[in-house]
Amino acid sequence: SHRVMLGPLVAAIDQGTSSTRFLVFNSKTAELLSHHQVEIKQSFPKEGWVEEDPKEILQSVYECMERTCEKLTQLNIDISNIKAIGVTNQRETTLVWDKETGEPLYNAIVWLDLRTQSTVERLINKTPGRNKNHLKHKTGLPISTYFSAVKLRWLMDNVREVHEAVVSRRAMFGTVDSWLIWCLTGGKSGGVHCTDVTNASRTMLFNIHTLDWDPELCRYFGVPMEILPRVRSSSEIYGLMKICSSRKSGALSGIPISGCLGDQSAALVGQMCFQDGQAKNTYGTGCFLLRNTGAKPVMSDHGLLTTVAYKLGRDKPACYALEGSVAIAGAVVRWLQDNLGIIESSEELEELAASVGTSYGCYFVPAFSGLYAPYWEPSARGIICGLTQFTNKRHLAFAALEAVCFQTREILDAMNQDSGIPLTQLQVDGGMTSNRLLMQLQADILCIPVVKPSMPETTALGAAMAAGAAEGVSVWSLSPEDLSEVTSEKFEPQINPEESELRYARWKKAVQKSMNWET
Ligand code: ADP
Repeated sequence: SHRVMLGPLVAAIDQGTSSTRFLVFNSKTAELLSHHQVEIKQSFPKEGWVEEDPKEILQSVYECMERTCEKLTQLNIDISNIKAIGVTNQRETTLVWDKETGEPLYNAIVWLDLRTQSTVERLINKTPGRNKNHLKHKTGLPISTYFSAVKLRWLMDNVREVHEAVVSRRAMFGTVDSWLIWCLTGGKSGGVHCTDVTNASRTMLFNIHTLDWDPELCRYFGVPMEILPRVRSSSEIYGLMKICSSRKSGALSGIPISGCLGDQSAALVGQMCFQDGQAKNTYGTGCFLLRNTGAKPVMSDHGLLTTVAYKLGRDKPACYALEGSVAIAGAVVRWLQDNLGIIESSEELEELAASVGTSYGCYFVPAFSGLYAPYWEPSARGIICGLTQFTNKRHLAFAALEAVCFQTREILDAMNQDSGIPLTQLQVDGGMTSNRLLMQLQADILCIPVVKPSMPETTALGAAMAAGAAEGVSVWSLSPEDLSEVTSEKFEPQINPEESELRYARWKKAVQKSMNWET
């Protein structure tokens, strides 16, 4: 039976911006055995604000674990075969909680949130030469609303409970990984307060060269260092699951949590991009292209970020990546659905767009949260241009998909310029890659093949691999040969490059129009 053949299993908690998942893999074959997914509510209390409820996030994790355990039991698979659990998460999203009560002191401020725009402008204005890259030599990042430090600053300045908890030394800061690991290892009764190097590298408080919190950066943002989690590698035992036995997921108690990676790093690992020069692009709420640059951090001259890719063990070296981040990808699909109501589900978009097969000269720049890479322009706002009497919702749907592809083209171009070695194909993953029209459009607009793995959950796979490879667990080696059963599908470019260039040139014009609204 299954029981005899399976051997050790490895699991992952994948806490993304739009949903939470729990997944269990066979560590021999990387086969996905069972999983469950729960949507997460996002609230938009004011224009530009994006929040999520930390308790709902935690509950969604319990629910996913419970339902997955039930499914495993139905499959006659013994839950005690799970040897390790990894955590991967939406990055930068900022939380503060009270370590004595275990209660969050405010909602999680989501990475997309723009409330810190004026703070960011003030900080940039104070730097010599109004240089948004003032802290880049240490952090690899421009000063932007995107990263955690300014969100944390906002919480300390504007939420009395946070301020008081900081003063009375009861406050704990963390990104979603820290919140979950702390809660799942016991919370107020002995929970472990930690994060990994990849998540830490997105806070702007972390020195990516020394791989530690940086006192000067903390002073710059006025953040007391005692509220920060301890920084660990991405693959080591942080603590053991401690779940009340009355819960159905109680069967997972005692399993080590031994992997932790920000979602984009986890996808890089899950796609097995371990060599210098290998890259992947993930299409979720946003879109993130990461290229492994090996043991040394490479600073971009073309608006990309430098970030820690992974550090797979306490004694292993850190690997770095260049990253192109696009704020709005799948989020534009949600917008067409929730705000305009022209589709009822994200799956409908493909058919709607395919029914016309062209945007008919319509360009849609979804700069809802300003523009990220390569522009880093917080004051940009979304525009739809090129409309005629003829334009209808189908063209708009097509333009939305094209927007995702054009934004990827911009970061790929920047990546190729920075590295001097153009990518010859693009490995992709993420929720949006189930849209085949999008994949074909992407190949057309990049003029290179797009390669999609048949098992789409590469983010979770990466976190599970890190957990299974940790010292003291060691049920999974990280060599690609061991994962040879992973197959993929290839989309080849089908239009001629001249047409592709023409459309791209028009897109760039549209982008220029989206910038500098207020001036
Ligand atoms: P995240 O990790 O950011 O939560 P996921 O990788 O789970 O994101 O992808 C979810 C996103 O992908 C949502 O924004 C959703 O609108 C979009 N999406 C999912 N399926 C499709 C589809 N068939 N066509 C277009 N967009 C899709």
